[in-house]
Amino acid sequence: MRLKKSKKLYNKGLKHMVGAVNSPVRAFQSVGGSPLFIKKAKGSHIYDVDGNKYLDLVLSYGPMILGHRHKKVERSIKKALKNGYTFGASTQGEIKLAKLVCDAFPGMDKVRFVNSGTEAVLSAIRLARAYTNKNKIIKFSGCYHGHADALLVAAGSGLATMSLPGSKGVPEDAVKNTLISEFNNIESVLSHINSSNDIAAVIIEPIAGNMGVVQPSEDFIKALRQITKDHDILLIVDEVMTGFRFQFGGAHELLGIQADITCLGKVIGGGFPVGAYGARNEIMETVAPLGAMYQAGTLSGNPIAMASGYSTLKTLKKLNPYKAFNIVANDIAEYLNVIAKKHNVALTVNHYGSMINPFFTTKKVVDFKTAQSSDTEKYKVFFWEMIRQGVFLPPSQFEAWFLSTAITTKDLEVLKNAIDKALKAVSQMETSSAPSAS
Ligand SMILES: *Cc1c(COP(=O)(O)O)cnc(C)c1O
Repeated sequence: MRLKKSKKLYNKGLKHMVGAVNSPVRAFQSVGGSPLFIKKAKGSHIYDVDGNKYLDLVLSYGPMILGHRHKKVERSIKKALKNGYTFGASTQGEIKLAKLVCDAFPGMDKVRFVNSGTEAVLSAIRLARAYTNKNKIIKFSGCYHGHADALLVAAGSGLATMSLPGSKGVPEDAVKNTLISEFNNIESVLSHINSSNDIAAVIIEPIAGNMGVVQPSEDFIKALRQITKDHDILLIVDEVMTGFRFQFGGAHELLGIQADITCLGKVIGGGFPVGAYGARNEIMETVAPLGAMYQAGTLSGNPIAMASGYSTLKTLKKLNPYKAFNIVANDIAEYLNVIAKKHNVALTVNHYGSMINPFFTTKKVVDFKTAQSSDTEKYKVFFWEMIRQGVFLPPSQFEAWFLSTAITTKDLEVLKNAIDKALKAVSQMETSSAPSAS
């Protein structure tokens, strides 16, 4: 397969862009090789600059749930463009999207739009601290909540579960109020709560998606909700990835809990930069201009982004693809299991709704540690064979595969055929190199 133009652009990009990317995962470091440069996308497919066509299961890490360039969304964006790009004043589009979002989240009375998931989460943390007059937060090892200083601890990389910065440039002072617990382990939450009365909030991904897909047990999530409530600790549910992904609303509702503050992003912009945080009136009234917690943004609520988000959500609501997503995801997961067995490859497939993750391990994956037992060398081989077979997967073992409404029956056949070939490639690799411990 030809990747000549991608390679050329990559080398060119290195001169004035760090690693030739604007977000690290795009550099393909964890799968090796040089990254694809994309020219265009339409429906379920994405095309690189060499003219290769791929079934897209990355979907920009979630936002393109309707596939690329959905007719209705594109029409709304074009219409909005004609009125101007940004005004520094409120528009009707913001009210429309705010209503649609609040209506979909029981307990969310008000919402504030920002420009990314990172910004949504860092604002939600500030809000929790402002509202409770407490300082500490608990996060879970392996959960990612964007790149704000206080949250770059045990954020889905190979860090120890201590309050140590997960990035250079983050002072220890910035993370000293961040406590780490283990996903699916309520004792690890209780021990922090029992030793501090300065905890403002616990933040969690309701279905973890940034250590690969990991589902909380019912006991764990319900206990977490109860314990936080009992101790006047706010529960921040980071739905940046999961919001509108499994139902028209949040994953936490599906899990039978209610958030105090919800963070959103990805899908709600339909491919444009939109993040949001929302809560009941009493909490949101802490935010300026009603309250004393400051948070602002020149381009927040941008009219083009609002039009894209509104149209995406409206279309999603009408299509209601969630049942169909479950059926397709189940089918893919089952197929992965069957073919892994056929080729004698150890595989654990986690999936929830339209998010799927095969891990190259024999272990059950329930937290960051077990997720990390996956053999990433195998993922590398799997990934590149899938590329050769015309399927674009995330260039990292620990990112989910996403489904879109644009995927056709024919696409699924292509996907299955590719999976068969890629798992075969993995099995052949097993015989040629020493198997690693799992
Ligand atoms: C992607 C993501 C973020 C960060 O959002 P950005 O728009 O990349 O800043 C935060 N939390 C979760 C759960 C995410 O998946």
